[in-house]
Amino acid sequence: MEQTFAIIKPDAVERNLIGKVLERIEAEGFRIISMKRVLLTIPIAEGFYHVHKERPFFKDLTKSMCGGPVVLLVLEKEGAIKAWRKLMGATNPAEADEGTLRKEFAVSLEKNSVHGSDAPETAVFEISYFFSQTEIIP
Ligand code: ADP
Ligand code: MG
Repeated sequence: MEQTFAIIKPDAVERNLIGKVLERIEAEGFRIISMKRVLLTIPIAEGFYHVHKERPFFKDLTKSMCGGPVVLLVLEKEGAIKAWRKLMGATNPAEADEGTLRKEFAVSLEKNSVHGSDAPETAVFEISYFFSQTEIIP
């Protein structure tokens, strides 16, 4: 079983979409093996998105991720990393396929409602960035 890391971003939490996103996650056969609702700080968001620190959107992105609470999730399923990226849809909601979460819920490229790990190494880093081993109960 593969694990991946997901975030329900502030724009979606703000619009009361936690339940709708979780419903889609469970309907697609993922098991939610850990979950918490937190308010990120700037240093924590910067550390999380360190791979993007040279990008022009880094400052806006990290600030918007701290603009309200987020829901952090560890998801499990066979091929979870790719399956969750597929369910999320393209980064830019204008390019996201019909039926994806970003197509349905995102408001813009920056406020695109959900995050997902993009590779096995990223998933390991991202899960361990926010969750201790004892918080993950498969
Ligand atoms: P993804 O979240 O699909 O893995 P990236 O890792 O490339 O996408 O980017 C991280 C996040 O940064 C995106 O989800 C989005 O919120 C934001 N972002 C990416 N590209 C841009 C951009 N050109 N302008 C503004 N925000 C962006
Ligand atoms: Mg990414």
